[in-house]
Amino acid sequence: MDSYWHWHSLIGNFAVVALFISSWVHGQFVFADRPRAFRNAAFGLAMGLGAVASMVLAVRTEAGQLFDLRSSLLALAGFFGGPVAGLVAGGIALAYRLAIGGPTAWVGGLGIVIASLVGWSVSRATRGRVPAIWSAGLLALSVSCIGPALNMLLRLAGLLPATQPSLAIALLNAAATALSAFFIMRYRVIERERDLLRAAFMQSPDFQYVKTPESTFVAVNNAVMKHHGFTSPLQMIGKTDRDLTRPERAEALMREERQLVATGEPVDDRLEVLTDPAGRDVWYSTSKVPLYGRDGETIGIAGVTRDVTVEKQLEREVVDSRNELRYVLAEITDGIAMFNADGILVYCNEQYKSLFPRTARFRTPGTHLRTILKHVLEEQEQIVASGHEAEWLEEIANSLSHYSEEEVELFDGRWLYLRTRPTAEGSALVVVSDVTKIKQAEAALRTMTDQLKLLATTDGLTGLTNRRAFDTALESELARCRRNGEPLGLLLADVDRFKTYNDIYGHQAGDEVLRRVGECLRGALRRPGDVAARYGGEEFVAILPGTGEDGAFFIADAFREALSGLGIAHKAADKGVVTASVGLATFTERDAGMNSTELVRRADEALYNAKDAGRDRVMGWRTRHEVRPVRGVRA
Ligand code: GH3
Ligand code: MG
Ligand code: MG
Repeated sequence: MDSYWHWHSLIGNFAVVALFISSWVHGQFVFADRPRAFRNAAFGLAMGLGAVASMVLAVRTEAGQLFDLRSSLLALAGFFGGPVAGLVAGGIALAYRLAIGGPTAWVGGLGIVIASLVGWSVSRATRGRVPAIWSAGLLALSVSCIGPALNMLLRLAGLLPATQPSLAIALLNAAATALSAFFIMRYRVIERERDLLRAAFMQSPDFQYVKTPESTFVAVNNAVMKHHGFTSPLQMIGKTDRDLTRPERAEALMREERQLVATGEPVDDRLEVLTDPAGRDVWYSTSKVPLYGRDGETIGIAGVTRDVTVEKQLEREVVDSRNELRYVLAEITDGIAMFNADGILVYCNEQYKSLFPRTARFRTPGTHLRTILKHVLEEQEQIVASGHEAEWLEEIANSLSHYSEEEVELFDGRWLYLRTRPTAEGSALVVVSDVTKIKQAEAALRTMTDQLKLLATTDGLTGLTNRRAFDTALESELARCRRNGEPLGLLLADVDRFKTYNDIYGHQAGDEVLRRVGECLRGALRRPGDVAARYGGEEFVAILPGTGEDGAFFIADAFREALSGLGIAHKAADKGVVTASVGLATFTERDAGMNSTELVRRADEALYNAKDAGRDRVMGWRTRHEVRPVRGVRA
């Protein structure tokens, strides 16, 4: 056996392994989109053919054995491609070996089966347990041992004659396996990285694209493809923006890219608004950068375009609402101030300042509420109970933390209404309104109401209680006296011959007389609880709570005497002056069931009797004769 020929064949074998591994590594992209089982079968096919090529260049020993690197390729098939690849590669190699035949064909066949199994077994046994490089080393070691181990076993079994195991063949097998495994593994790492980058590019939700420096599409991702209505990114390769958009826009884009290539200046977040098929405005933000090659030459343009419609709308809403708020705050007549959780003024509008003219210059953002309040006290802007200034300051400073409303009076008579609204974040909004006008209107209204109330109960001519108020007063006084077991006296007075007085002196003079009669009656009353009222026309009444018949007579007669004592001339009257007759009725404990109507009726009856008895006198009810004063004096 020529040893030179041996080495030539072995190195040729090595070249076969290198050729098939390299072809596979670089040519497999053809199957990139096929299912994994298909790719594995193709790998098995390549390795199987490689094994056959290796066998063609095999070295035949004197014993008829073939030595070559087939085990290496078969083991690699099982190791990287799994059982499918192992089976395909092993099958092809086995078929070829058996076809050649020869006395040791069965030994070769056995070696082929073992090599295919070894690759797969080593992969199974080591995957995930040891670093990949170790498992490749173990594979190389196992492969180098297949031939010698098989030889030794068969020799011991007496099935083969003694032969010298070749260390060179073992080493070559190990080297071929280790190198191939190393290359395939390296390649797989690169491939994984490339897949990752490719996936990131293709699946990005943004529009991503790469163009030549002349603006022709080289690569686009799925988003771009779908946006332009294509079904494969490949359909867009070679196209330019002229094929995709309006001519003016395409020209603008290409001009931008020419500029980019010429100057190297990237395009940074260029905003563009386009109308989508549904007629809605869609905002896009585009960035583009030039791509440089190894030698610094421009090799392309990479671009990213994002749909920023939502951000834009949000931005516009924020701006709009900020403008609206600013407008409202400026236009509102109320003063508005915002204090933060520490009590520092953070915002206030102009109105707020002008509502506090003496301290406006201190009401600026950054000032603490306590400082402002100190100035309010110093400048005496607000009316604060003297001696309670410190308390007042504390109370207001602490009021920011809770919901409060208060009215304050200022030095110039203005009234302010302050509402404090704490927010969830601990800050507080203070709204100040000038309520001076409301306050004034309120006061005016109160005065008017009081006057109206008075008018409703007062007789306009005499200023005495009017008939309506008298009715109410009599009712309640009677009830009270009944409760307390006290008597109640009621006088009913009527001016004598008054019709004639009017006839002689005129109605206006008559009115004047009525006023003076009223004064007389009021003057005759002694107690604060007594009520003098004009009953109607020239008739007057007096309620005398707690006064019995004698007391009532005393009052009534005092009145009668005072009136005639005024000496108001009345030609047609019996005594030549204005006089009045008085009827008197009294409620006592004995008259438990008597009501006010009955009491008035009795007084009226008594008055009638007084008239009947000659006028200018006082008469009690059912007293057939005049009631005489205790003193017994009677004119
Ligand atoms: P007598 O002594 O019987 O009471 O005679 P008299 O004329 O007073 O009779 P009577 O009580 O019936 O007359 C009431 C008169 O009082 C009628 C009306 O002219 C007059 N009078 C009633 N109210 C007013 C008033 O408000 N002003 C004026 N000036 N006169 C009134
Ligand atoms: Mg009368
Ligand atoms: Mg009269």
